[in-house]
Amino acid sequence: MNSPMTSSDSILINDFSRLPTVLIEAQSRAIHEVIDSGSYILSDKVRSFERSWATSVEAIGCVGTANGLDAIEIGLRVLGVGAGDEVITPSLTAFPTVLAILRTGATPVFADIDPLTACISPASVSNCFTSRTKALVVVHLYGRSAPLEELRDLCNEHNVFLVEDCAQAHLAKSNTHPVGTYGKFAAWSFYPTKNLGAIGDAGAVTSMDPEFLSRVRIFRNYGQTDRYTHQIQGSNSRLDELQAAVLLERLKYLEEWTTKRRYIAQRYSAQLSNPYISTLPLPSSSLDHVHHLYIIKTSYRDSLQAYLSQNGIQTLIHYPIPCHKQAAVKQPRLASSGLVHTLDHCNTCLSLPVHPFLCDSEVDKVINIVNRFQPSN
Ligand SMILES: *Cc1c(COP(=O)(O)O)cnc(C)c1O
Repeated sequence: MNSPMTSSDSILINDFSRLPTVLIEAQSRAIHEVIDSGSYILSDKVRSFERSWATSVEAIGCVGTANGLDAIEIGLRVLGVGAGDEVITPSLTAFPTVLAILRTGATPVFADIDPLTACISPASVSNCFTSRTKALVVVHLYGRSAPLEELRDLCNEHNVFLVEDCAQAHLAKSNTHPVGTYGKFAAWSFYPTKNLGAIGDAGAVTSMDPEFLSRVRIFRNYGQTDRYTHQIQGSNSRLDELQAAVLLERLKYLEEWTTKRRYIAQRYSAQLSNPYISTLPLPSSSLDHVHHLYIIKTSYRDSLQAYLSQNGIQTLIHYPIPCHKQAAVKQPRLASSGLVHTLDHCNTCLSLPVHPFLCDSEVDKVINIVNRFQPSN
């Protein structure tokens, strides 16, 4: 599985130039099939990918969307979430989680994280319910499944919908059940850098409820029930045939890539040992994490990032600003107990390369260089 080094020997967060040659060729053939078919919207490739993705995540069905943001927003709208409703969600997430809630007209209410997992904390969630709460959108952040059984119990107790933002957690499990099967629906993103990525924007909704799925299917296609018949105001958020064609080819590799991510994450967790740096503990079952990102924490984040960059290692920060501090969120509502762990995380976290095309010598290099870091003051 060792790939040759590219011309630049920088170790990148993602490196699409290293896709297997057989896959690159298969993608090209699949794209040409679409071009030659003359059917470019909601045709064979989209139907085939929707079936394959539903099977992969053990859902009853899948509806492709234009992107992950739309998948969350459309699912929430179909559940009737809108103005006057509150939706609980973590502040430590990619902004689209929160933007999707805002776009429905509902008010996001921000819960804190568990500092050991960086996922939403059930104790903090339980501080956020009011009579207006309509849904909880959990995020399986960095590829680690959130504590779904506890969160599902809380939702049942308060009679609110559980929704899973699975944009970072393709094929992750939670107590042997795939993520996405606990909630009313799951939203997926196939943005190029996700564990399963397209060559542009793409997303999907999966669910265990066929009646919900058929409403999502109508919504993403102008709210059209039959040709030229519109009972609701939907949108245009269709998964593209070309993206579906590429996703079908890449899906064949997803398990292998996930295994490789787990292998690299386990090496980091076993071998990173620098007194100035901590790692997030791995879950007790390796299946619960698909390592979309590998996070370390340090109070010397900026100098560590500069040092790694000088040594040819690219890093990123997920995320420097929590969502409740974004100007786009007016008058943010927070858990009564506050968001101390979220703030600490945003100030100290750093993401190391963990993509499946890293070779052993590159993983060795990251470990050695991180272990030699000394804060300069
Ligand atoms: C990427 C991502 C999204 C949004 O996906 P897009 O396809 O870019 O719209 C939503 N939530 C999380 C947690 C993500 O990482």
